[in-house]
Amino acid sequence: MRLSQYFLPTLKENPAEAQITSHRLMLRAGFINQTTSGIYTWLPMGERVLKRIDQIVAEEQDRIGCHRITMPTVQPAHLWQESGRYEDYGKEMLRIKDRHDREMLYGPTHEEVVTDLVRQYVNSYRQLPLCLYQIHWKFRDEIRPRFGVMRGREFYMKDAYSFDIDMDSARTAYEKMYNAYLRTFARMGLKAVPMRADSGAIGGDLSHEFHVVADTGESAIYYDKAFENLTEADYSMEKLGKLYAVSDEKHDPATCPISDDQLVSRRGIEVGHIFYFGTKYSKSMNLKVAGPDGKPIYPEMGSYGIGVSRLVAAIIESSHDEHGIIWPEEVAPFRIGLIDAKNDAQTQAISEQLHERLTNACISVLYDDRSERAGVKFSDMDLIGLPWHVIVGGKTLTAGTVEVKNRRTGAREDLTIDALINKFLGD
Ligand code: ATP
Ligand code: MG
Repeated sequence: MRLSQYFLPTLKENPAEAQITSHRLMLRAGFINQTTSGIYTWLPMGERVLKRIDQIVAEEQDRIGCHRITMPTVQPAHLWQESGRYEDYGKEMLRIKDRHDREMLYGPTHEEVVTDLVRQYVNSYRQLPLCLYQIHWKFRDEIRPRFGVMRGREFYMKDAYSFDIDMDSARTAYEKMYNAYLRTFARMGLKAVPMRADSGAIGGDLSHEFHVVADTGESAIYYDKAFENLTEADYSMEKLGKLYAVSDEKHDPATCPISDDQLVSRRGIEVGHIFYFGTKYSKSMNLKVAGPDGKPIYPEMGSYGIGVSRLVAAIIESSHDEHGIIWPEEVAPFRIGLIDAKNDAQTQAISEQLHERLTNACISVLYDDRSERAGVKFSDMDLIGLPWHVIVGGKTLTAGTVEVKNRRTGAREDLTIDALINKFLGD
């Protein structure tokens, strides 16, 4: 991709409305644009990151046997009247009337729609367990939208819903999801701490929140140091459930069971929330299946959210420096930023050749071919934070090499063009 032809509207100045790093950087680096309070347009760079996160989330949901669907954003009110939540949900719900004066709403969540869907098709225990998910836009008329996409009004969420024949099977579904969440966040280069939570408005008896550690997190969290070095072998709800991890309200230094040197006190961004709530919706919405003995059973349900658009901001909060964003490779909008640092005939020819070869090898590359000064190109590339910068120019060119910089470590090496292609092909 040529930067000269790309839509990447970067800002020179810090936008005054942005209070936290991720919001500031997303605006400055041209990832998002605010349409109105809490509602954003995702610009090409932001869109690429959002879709990469979408893909990782989807792969991990598919891996545990959930099936992706897309439910409507606009829902009829009668489903919520049936479940009894229409009045309770309050002002966060955007209520709309259609031309026939029918009450509609923009979905803040989808328990009702999915329960209605499943009751139309599932009537035997043989069709369970079932887990359906979507990754789609939600609207919640938050009282205080803030911090950019961190707390938006319209936001992109993964929401999954599980249906099981009994509590044991529901618990297995819940645990599979718990493990999938740890894998999902780890793949994005994030440290996520799961903690027991009150299930809040949705109601129910088992719930965990997943927090990413970052200084600007909305809530103070306290947890066992052991969470900082988890490997996949540790992903057991039973094992991790024994470790201390609580939010502010539940932390009491007097009764905290672990020693000060084992206790970490940080701030957290909630990026995921899972609930088991039993038969709340299956009963209120009359979703019944025939059990093995022919008697009707109300399926046990759970719902499982990941804030996909919030994750973009959370990743930036946990991965940036004073020059800009540092994208983990797994979610980066492009893998390589190619910089023609001299704009002369020779550097241009080499850059063009590199751009073509990398593109042909399916290595994503953003090529800064603008006729800007090298300094401007370097600082823009640091700001947008692509993991690798390839710099054509400077002294190394006479030796037939280009310079490769790792955005995170700052480490630089000189490589011939062939060695460069091999480096990225090999990874
Ligand atoms: P919060 O306490 O932050 O309001 P919640 O409990 O309302 O979150 P859930 O209904 O569990 O959130 O939604 C699942 C996930 O969606 C949350 O863990 C969070 O990552 C994300 N999310 C919730 N509200 C917003 C929002 N207004 N903007 C962006 N992401 C959000
Ligand atoms: Mg909320």
